[in-house]
Amino acid sequence: MITIGVLGLQGAVREHVKAIEASGAKAVVVKKVEQLAELDGLILPGGESTTMRRLIDKYGFMEPLRQFAKEEKPMFGTCAGMILLAKHLVGYNEPHIGVMDITVERNAFGRQRESFEAALSIKGAGEEFIGVFIRAPYVVSVDDNVEVLSVHGDRIVAVRQGNFLATSFHPEVTDDHRVTAYFVGMAEEAKAKKVV
Ligand code: GLN
Repeated sequence: MITIGVLGLQGAVREHVKAIEASGAKAVVVKKVEQLAELDGLILPGGESTTMRRLIDKYGFMEPLRQFAKEEKPMFGTCAGMILLAKHLVGYNEPHIGVMDITVERNAFGRQRESFEAALSIKGAGEEFIGVFIRAPYVVSVDDNVEVLSVHGDRIVAVRQGNFLATSFHPEVTDDHRVTAYFVGMAEEAKAKKVV
């Protein structure tokens, strides 16, 4: 069975656990660094990226998370989690974990559209997926090695780079678990490759 962790320091953790279980995998709420070793994949949830960063530092998660990424273990950042994975952040000199070749702008949809839903077409996950955007970031630009999976209007809202996945929206808050299932599939593939 595939085991997917959800970084449990802050943010929308419980919803991800439900979505992972509904996708047929085992879910683990990760609160200690040692737990990373048992995972086939890790979700960085939505929440507040600056708060999450503070807690990542406080509990000694930064290096272990970078190591996890270095080993190319599957990681999925949703909303604030996408901000954590980006190598470039508009208006900031330094990234957080900084492993995806994308430039992300925080709170990019503006005040009037703080929160909204949109039907999205997502490569690999399907059509008419209701994306829930909450003070969402978006991807301003990507390098050639990054695959754009979904756009909303002229904005990139879902990307994949190897074993890393990121979405501007929260895929875990509705009963449609296709995006989580897509990530579980990535973790399955990565695990199968390792065994051979
Ligand atoms: N605006 C938040 C941030 O900058 C992200 C919002 C979310 O994760 N729903 O961290």
